[in-house]
Amino acid sequence: MVMKYKMYIDGGWCGADSYFDDLDPATGDVMARFPSGDGSDVSRAVDAAHDSLGKWSRTPPPARGRILYKIAEILRAEKKRLGILLSNEMGKVLPEALGDVQEAIDVFEYMAGEGRRLLGNTTTSELKEKFCMTVRKPVGVVGLITPWNFPIAIPGWKLAPALVCGNSIVFKPSSDTPLCAYELVKIMEKAGVPPGVVNFVTGSASSVGEAIVKHPRIDGLSFTGSKETGEWIVKNAGLKKVGLELGGKNPIIVMDDADIHLAVDGIIWGAFGTTGQRCTATSRVIAHKKVKGKLLEAIVKRAKALRLGKGTLKTTDVGPLINKAALEKTEAYVKIGKEEGAKLVCGGRRWGKKGFFHEPTIFDSVTPQMRIAREEIFGPVLSVLEAGSLDEAIDIANSVEYGLSSSIYTRDVNKAFRAIERIESGITYVNSSTIGAEVHLPFGGVKGTGHTREAGILGIDEFSNFKTVYVDYSGKLQRAQIDTKD
Ligand code: NAP
Repeated sequence: MVMKYKMYIDGGWCGADSYFDDLDPATGDVMARFPSGDGSDVSRAVDAAHDSLGKWSRTPPPARGRILYKIAEILRAEKKRLGILLSNEMGKVLPEALGDVQEAIDVFEYMAGEGRRLLGNTTTSELKEKFCMTVRKPVGVVGLITPWNFPIAIPGWKLAPALVCGNSIVFKPSSDTPLCAYELVKIMEKAGVPPGVVNFVTGSASSVGEAIVKHPRIDGLSFTGSKETGEWIVKNAGLKKVGLELGGKNPIIVMDDADIHLAVDGIIWGAFGTTGQRCTATSRVIAHKKVKGKLLEAIVKRAKALRLGKGTLKTTDVGPLINKAALEKTEAYVKIGKEEGAKLVCGGRRWGKKGFFHEPTIFDSVTPQMRIAREEIFGPVLSVLEAGSLDEAIDIANSVEYGLSSSIYTRDVNKAFRAIERIESGITYVNSSTIGAEVHLPFGGVKGTGHTREAGILGIDEFSNFKTVYVDYSGKLQRAQIDTKD
């Protein structure tokens, strides 16, 4: 018997006229059913968020922070159960699923501390007896729209700063992972988030997502997902404050002086961890021509040894893709790569009798012009390109429209710093893979990835606006720019 779950609006749990299936991607079996919400559910959620906003935004930030600590505490107590549930619903292997939950714990703890900070600035005035400062105010009612690849961590990255800054929320999770989102909302209710402050509306992009994007009483949007959806949101959100975290085509540069064993570890982890379904996944290796041969040989050997299977099994290295469409997209890109003249040296086929598995796949002899070198595949497909110098490698790294993560393996500190300076990306790793963000540092990209920063101290900028305050204690009219002469 498959269980039917509910949405959470104005502090109450509610259903809908129809429900959609939530699938286990390793088997294709239905594991839960969720309400197909619509525009009227979004409107009720927005009304509830507005009703709660005044009281919540006036709650002292340290008190809001205490609720965040409580959320982190419950998440920690439930980490193992949530990790297994996440692995079943999203497909990633259990150690990574536990890491996903841990990332949410980390971000709730980090942002809880912001309740005692939320810093503004004080500064000088050009006039005598005048005090100038900035203070943070919440954006208001914010819509959070999240993807499926980090189904607890990414909602956490948005919910925690949004709450500590005093916003009320309408949250739509990915329709591929509503169960993880539901569990997180249940925990927030248990931790004491007041009714109406977090509203959880499930349903499709076209009914719930678009209604959130276009709703006139929503003040801010925070979206993580594909570049195409991000572009649509920018065109349709009106004057809302919009945060965007979009796709990537992340390179690892391997120079001729690199520690090749270390580079191989980083490439395998970056390309095939989470089945290549991370926005920061390594999808391109740009190898110096002097080491490309032995590097390729080593990564192919390692990739061929990876074991596919259900994420919860100890014997599994690589889980399934999220759904049928993702599997078909990966297959389509393998076909494109072959047609473009790239050389398939590993994998290239779907795997297993059920579920959405695809073999770890590597293409050699890829050129920067090929689609498999430029477009985000979001699956276990790695393109290997060759460069004759650091400058050429960096030019290739920068030749795509995305700019999220990047990495260089070298033992030469000068080359490392040149790469840090010249690669167009929001994140650069040295002697480490393209994945592995920590929550106390800003995360985000440039170019087609969007320019928002989440997490770290900058993570609260997305969910707060600065108010500028001038206090004149001179007791007389003082005019800026006019009465400034001594
Ligand atoms: P997606 O198709 O853009 O969907 C993301 C979310 O947006 C889902 O909740 C989806 O709802 C909703 N949505 C889709 N179209 C919408 C619309 N027109 N209006 C409002 N909401 C809409 O992306 P995805 O396939 O879930 O996620 C993979 C993408 O996310 C990749 O491109 C990846 O690189 C990117 N990503 C980026 C980051 C980052 O931090 N930069 C992190 C993780 C993932 P439904 O699920 O109901 O369709």
